[in-house]
Amino acid sequence: MTRFEYAPAPESRSIVDIRSSYGLFIDGAFTDGTGGRKTVNPATEEVLAEVTEAGAAEVEAAVAAARRAYTNVWGPMRGAERAKYLYRIARIVQERARELAVLESIDNGKPIRESRDVDVPLVAAHFFYYAGWADKLKHAGFGHDPRPVGVAGQVIPWNFPLLMLAWKIAPALACGNTIVLKPAETTPLTALAFAEICQQADLPPGVVNIVTGGGETGRLLVEHPDVDKVAFTGSTEVGRAIAKSVAGTRKRVSLELGGKAANIVFDDAPIDQAVEGIVNGIFFNQGHVCCAGSRLLVQESVADELLESLKRRMAQLRVGDPLDKNTDVGAINSSAQLDRIRELSAAGDDEGAQRWSPPCELPERGFWFAPTIFTGVTQAHRIAREEIFGPVLSVLTFRTPAEAVEKANNTPYGLSAGVWTDKGSRILRIADQLRAGVVWANTFNKFDPSSPFGGYKESGYGREGGRHGLEAYLAH
Ligand code: NAD
Repeated sequence: MTRFEYAPAPESRSIVDIRSSYGLFIDGAFTDGTGGRKTVNPATEEVLAEVTEAGAAEVEAAVAAARRAYTNVWGPMRGAERAKYLYRIARIVQERARELAVLESIDNGKPIRESRDVDVPLVAAHFFYYAGWADKLKHAGFGHDPRPVGVAGQVIPWNFPLLMLAWKIAPALACGNTIVLKPAETTPLTALAFAEICQQADLPPGVVNIVTGGGETGRLLVEHPDVDKVAFTGSTEVGRAIAKSVAGTRKRVSLELGGKAANIVFDDAPIDQAVEGIVNGIFFNQGHVCCAGSRLLVQESVADELLESLKRRMAQLRVGDPLDKNTDVGAINSSAQLDRIRELSAAGDDEGAQRWSPPCELPERGFWFAPTIFTGVTQAHRIAREEIFGPVLSVLTFRTPAEAVEKANNTPYGLSAGVWTDKGSRILRIADQLRAGVVWANTFNKFDPSSPFGGYKESGYGREGGRHGLEAYLAH
């Protein structure tokens, strides 16, 4: 059969205007940039900008600005008034959608198709959704007069930089809290663009403050005594450290941590759709997804057929330039993350699993890893237990539904899972037994602002999204 080649279809980057250096966004204004950290394009290793490393004095200034804004303006403001600002932010995000998508892809390495069609539309959707709640909090089921918590210190990771920001900022603002947010060190640019959006929306100074920096900046923020609420998304290891540091204080905490989700395919599942779901589950966003379906559990009787189809499908994936509209799999976000993926994949080889990747040419510069599956994986293997956070799928098999459930739950994590079967009754029975915050049925990686998201066990506690997501930001 003739195979048609794709012509390059690059999105222009002329729409973004990246400054050579950025300061912090405190009390409604940008400070002068003092440098300290470079952010690079992971697809090319080109230095994009220098960003400021916030220290104790800067974190202090940001928290103080947030406190003033909370006491004087945002806390007392009527919900209906706050809603207007959230709607305005949502509309500006939509107006600047193309620019934000290009900026996200340049700084993060994710394909433009994802930043344009998933991340940025969901960012706007979150602000619209929570804008709708701002004047209805009395009807949210958290008491007749729920109050904001106060100043929120929020720390986010690099895999969905702007989307994680929206998950944190939209509900916090809707409930009347003010914010100091720290983006991840490798992806600060869309958070800084968001700071400009706050200015454009005339958000009162100090309501949102953005401080850039590394882990130490994050630590200073969550440990600051005048922070009332800590919201963290990131690794279980750092989440654990944060839980320890705030234990015994009056601070409220929510933690969204790692995952090692099982994607379970039964023998009556429509194989072609399941293959699409498996690919979406693990290769979406290069597998840099906390709820990625990184463990495929396939019923033994259909394992050969499914793996054959999966390999055929994987051979069609286009890996390369994130700004090319045809790209399916972009760059790994950093050299440190690439090292981790390589190290865990090598452990898979050493422990006796069989590695397979489709033939694919990777660019010479930048951080790249080919879509990979490991078969012959047992539950004892590191690649079945540890979060790889890359485009690497571990394949295990099962014979009975009970064995599938036991293997799926055999993990310290509990963020998400997928079930593929033709039978509705089986979906309900299996979903009920899975210890996971989100269970997708005959689909995977579907997100909606109205739907709560969060984990069990070492995947964290608290929920983001939906009505449930308001609870973290209300004192009731
Ligand atoms: P990370 O924990 O290394 O970093 C996350 C953020 O925490 C960064 O901004 C970092 O600077 C900051 N940080 C580091 N040390 C800190 C400290 N001691 N105190 C306060 N802040 C500190 O995680 P990462 O590698 O950036 O992100 C990947 C992880 O995030 C994965 O484990 C993934 O599963 C998880 N994640 C979870 C969700 C979810 O909703 N559950 C969503 C996205 C990512």
